[in-house]
Amino acid sequence: MGADAEGESVQVFVRVRPHNSDELRQGTSESCVKPHGTRGISCCDSRGSKSYTFDQVLFDTCQQDVFEVAGMPMVDNVMAGYNSSIFAYGQTGAGKTYTMLGNISNGPGGPHENGHDQLGYNCKCSMLEIYNESITDLLVPSATNLHIREDLQKGCFVDGLTDELVANVDEVMALMRRGAEHRHTGETRMNRESSRSHSVFTCIVEKSSKGGSGGVTSVICSRLNLIDLAGSERVRSGGMGGSQVQGEHFKETVKINQSLTTLGRVITELVDSQRRGSGRSKHIPYRDSRLTFLLQDSLGGNAKTMIIANISPSSLNAAETSSTLAFVQRAKCI
Ligand code: ADP
Ligand code: MG
Repeated sequence: MGADAEGESVQVFVRVRPHNSDELRQGTSESCVKPHGTRGISCCDSRGSKSYTFDQVLFDTCQQDVFEVAGMPMVDNVMAGYNSSIFAYGQTGAGKTYTMLGNISNGPGGPHENGHDQLGYNCKCSMLEIYNESITDLLVPSATNLHIREDLQKGCFVDGLTDELVANVDEVMALMRRGAEHRHTGETRMNRESSRSHSVFTCIVEKSSKGGSGGVTSVICSRLNLIDLAGSERVRSGGMGGSQVQGEHFKETVKINQSLTTLGRVITELVDSQRRGSGRSKHIPYRDSRLTFLLQDSLGGNAKTMIIANISPSSLNAAETSSTLAFVQRAKCI
């Protein structure tokens, strides 16, 4: 267990973004959420006020702070050999992509003063998108409808997905931005919104260490997944815009909700079986969505999972915010 995890393998952070100009124009600067210490938050919607406790609640924090409290410990976990995943969850416009990437035009989110320094290990990265349960390579967007295969050695992998060797942190960030850019142009070309797809950026780290008897070199291979999830808004509200979801969009939204529900179920089943000490014996519904099927080696077992729930502070979004908090709360207590 990483020192940060205190015996728990799923950590939940909540990040509250500032009010945006639309919210200020349409409503008031009134907030539906209030911090209580560093771990508590209460949310007031039409049904009243409810309090929640998480591993940390981040109000008005910059990218650097998020990287230090959330990113860095997960990087340490990966370097220690644990498969690790960070999920950004929340309604469209709540700040998921911003949390993962920073402002694309303003450069990367995290601090990378020494971004050009050589990494002391082998690292290769890939980035894919899952849209309507179909997988596209975001580094080579002409590769679509890719299939997930299972291999005794490699575990689950996406057949035909490109991975690129990176030499330093700058190159990692450049790949992430390239993938995000392709996600965006793909959307425009196909006349759809990013809010309806999940993106998964994966770094596979190979570290060899001399040790043990006779100086045998062993190779530790672990992966870090950064998952920018589809918008969690429910069918009837249609997200920040508040428009109704109809037709094709309705079908997509149902599929998205199914895959987010499956993710929620997988995580709660894992937390539950860990609490009861029953290991992996219980049925975990990994196969019910592409996302969980693909990530099964990085969820449960020894893997480290972090969920960053992104929320808007505006009372205009109170219903979605409270549903986001309720969803991620389930990963903490059952
Ligand atoms: P999502 O990916 O959840 O749909 P975005 O990350 O695209 O949401 O954020 C929506 C808008 O809010 C963007 O313009 C983004 O720059 C801004 N934003 C999000 N989070 C923050 C934050 N913590 N501080 C400042 N601006 C933010
Ligand atoms: Mg986004």
